[in-house]
Amino acid sequence: MDNKFPGKDVSSDDKLNKFPLTASKKKKVVKISNNINFGSRYFPIISGPNTLENRDLMFKYCEFLEKQNLKLVRAAIYKPLTFPYRSKKYFEIGDEGIRILEDLKKNFDVLFVTEIMESSKLEILSKIIDIFQIGARNMQNFPLLNSVAKSHKPIILKRHFGCSIRDLFGASEYILLNKNSNVILCERGVSAPHTHRSTSRFILDIQSIPAIKEYSCLPIIVDPSHACFWYKWVVDLALASFSAGSHGLILEVHPNPRKAAVDPLQSINFEDFKFLLLQLKKLAPIFKKKIV
Ligand code: PEP
Ligand code: MN
Repeated sequence: MDNKFPGKDVSSDDKLNKFPLTASKKKKVVKISNNINFGSRYFPIISGPNTLENRDLMFKYCEFLEKQNLKLVRAAIYKPLTFPYRSKKYFEIGDEGIRILEDLKKNFDVLFVTEIMESSKLEILSKIIDIFQIGARNMQNFPLLNSVAKSHKPIILKRHFGCSIRDLFGASEYILLNKNSNVILCERGVSAPHTHRSTSRFILDIQSIPAIKEYSCLPIIVDPSHACFWYKWVVDLALASFSAGSHGLILEVHPNPRKAAVDPLQSINFEDFKFLLLQLKKLAPIFKKKIV
């Protein structure tokens, strides 16, 4: 295959030759359970703390989620770190988190999303995890994509903050080529010259939502928390993402955000989350969507 039209944006040659499966005309619906899927009239919301800090936090979280009639929980067991030094506060529970998830499943009707960073954890995580997350930093870790694809579980593939959607489609193509079509793409913000606030590392590329829908068959969800890194902007960005056609959200929510072990500035609290749900439920009938 030649590279007649190299570029950072999507060309017709790309759709035909570089990621034909991702660019398929047949829209993909990724089924999670009987009443939850991505890419249809359902609008799933995945929420939870950045990291699985401890058993109490997760029990409290799942109790809260049940009251909101939601089922999808996020929490990291293994955490990618930008710098190799881990302060005591920046916590990673590791394998012990798997036992906590097992206990949670015995007590609550919840579905788990967590990040996988190395294929050696695939077997043990596959037993308890409902959706794998490939984090932004591993978007182009092709051996990892190949092995996680073979689990045949749904995979949330986050776009790296420095990558084009063309690069993202290259990564999703690896998973599809491994005969796993349960791929959910995720926009989580990109590096940009200005982010309007010193603590905002990234900026939400809202335009990527309609662009991804135009070029690919895969559902696209948004993570406004990592995009802006600032809790005061998360609700507005979540509503903007919904209105811009996102197929779902993944959000950081914590009972006491400022005390969160990781990324305390980006989690919203229970009250803000309930307010967001209320707004989304008002908008949902207009957009013919169902919040799940
Ligand atoms: C996360 O969701 O916990 C995370 C680390 O996100 P990202 O890979 O987008 O930085
Ligand atoms: Mn983070």
